[in-house]
Amino acid sequence: AAALTLPLPDEAATQAFGWALGPLLTPGMVVWFDGDLGAGKTTLARAVLRSLGYEGPVKSPTYTLVEFYVVSRLYLYHFDFYRFNDPSEFEDAGLGEYFRDDTVCLVEWPDKAAAYVPAADLRIAFHFAGETVPESRPADGRRLVLHAYSTAGRQCLSSLRA
Ligand code: ADP
Ligand code: MG
Repeated sequence: AAALTLPLPDEAATQAFGWALGPLLTPGMVVWFDGDLGAGKTTLARAVLRSLGYEGPVKSPTYTLVEFYVVSRLYLYHFDFYRFNDPSEFEDAGLGEYFRDDTVCLVEWPDKAAAYVPAADLRIAFHFAGETVPESRPADGRRLVLHAYSTAGRQCLSSLRA
């Protein structure tokens, strides 16, 4: 899958990217957010929601597993599987029913639900930019690498490139 790399020097850049991405998301899309704690996954999800006109609070789904929004004619589900001890908890919680043709699903920590979470149309890997000085990492910006795995995902990438 073709990749797109985006340097995001600060939080404002992460937010700007969310505003670019949000309007490109179409019903049925699954977007994986891969990256360590504090990499900016929830920040990006919040900006995506803002770009779609949602003005209310956007909580991290760390404790609830999923937060649900209806915005700009989209059903948007925001997941976080960080707390899973085993991927089968995805099935135990009945989360598969949320992944439908008429929903957009943003997934933090998809690897924690590996083999159960539906495949991604678009995968966004979050990296810390300051790799040489570990202590400075959180402040040193981020680098995102995007991969597309479907027509819808590729459409997003080409729009982001334009
Ligand atoms: P995650 O959901 O990945 O655990 P959060 O979005 O909750 O991460 O937190 C990310 C933190 O990093 C926030 O404090 C945010 O201000 C900061 N941040 C987000 N994007 C960037 C960036 N591009 N450069 C530097 N800091 C960022
Ligand atoms: Mg988070």
